[in-house]
Amino acid sequence: MMQLAQPLNFIGFVYREIKQALVDMETMYSLLRVEQEVTDPPGAPALKVSGGRVAFECVGFGYSPDRPILKDVTFAIEPGQTVAVVGSSGAGKSTLSRLLFRFYDVDEGAVRLDGQDIRDVSQTSLRAAIGIVPQDTVLFNDTLAYNIAYGRPEATRAEIEEAARIASLDAFVESLPQRYETTVGERGLKLSGGEKQRVAIARMVLKRPAIIVFDEATSALDSKTEQEILAALRAVSQGRTTLVIAHRLSTIVDADEIVVLDAGRIAERGTHNELLARDRLYAAMWRRQAEGAELNGQRVVAEEAS
Ligand code: ATP
Repeated sequence: MMQLAQPLNFIGFVYREIKQALVDMETMYSLLRVEQEVTDPPGAPALKVSGGRVAFECVGFGYSPDRPILKDVTFAIEPGQTVAVVGSSGAGKSTLSRLLFRFYDVDEGAVRLDGQDIRDVSQTSLRAAIGIVPQDTVLFNDTLAYNIAYGRPEATRAEIEEAARIASLDAFVESLPQRYETTVGERGLKLSGGEKQRVAIARMVLKRPAIIVFDEATSALDSKTEQEILAALRAVSQGRTTLVIAHRLSTIVDADEIVVLDAGRIAERGTHNELLARDRLYAAMWRRQAEGAELNGQRVVAEEAS
């Protein structure tokens, strides 16, 4: 019986490993949302990154032809600068980041990176140049070290720990009994939204992309976590071209430019102070959010008092 048990155990082990590999592939697939329609032109050259200038030029796009989402969108992010895109839910903010990563091709106009139309270069080289901190980071059923190093498997432990430190993840990891060997993901320790975003930021520190896209979580994080994430993001985006898809205006007051999207069109643009002075859409959004924050604050005070 013992003789039979061992091979059976082994088969069970292989089965679990294969199943996990398939789950990982599925996760990757959904992460990259590989679209059949986006293809490399034959012999597509690699993207040549010089400064990391991103330009959306007269971009028109719809997921289906009968429903245009973005209309005549033109703006640029100069090398090393930060541009934030704001607008109501469904305005097309995240769609911009999907177009930059070339999950879809534009219907009109072009997206250029350092002057090159992103349709003319290989997708691998394009995606190697861009790091995304998505709203909801997918973690693999593996250790924290594996998850942080994902994309740079040759990273040393010292590099992983340094990345975690820059991403303000180190104190959290130190609090875990198995530290970087802790299994996370669906079958391990479940991380909070803020912790997952910090894992994504740590990944980016190791990837060192020229361009960063930060898709801010829709659901509000507590203000301490939000501040930690912002500080971490500031550290990695230093000197890198950064596109922030923002939901909370308080997080983007320092952006070099803020682009306000309204129903797929750029309604206004400028710095935080310029837009407040203009007293139109952005100023109204700012007042609404400030009132909301004040109300929340009052509720917290009331709860603490009771
Ligand atoms: P939010 O602030 O809620 O995240 P958003 O401004 O980022 O919104 P997008 O995610 O860019 O909005 O979506 C813009 C519009 O495109 C929405 O009306 C949405 O329903 C639609 N849309 C998004 N993804 C797809 C898709 N894969 N297929 C079809 N329509 C889509």
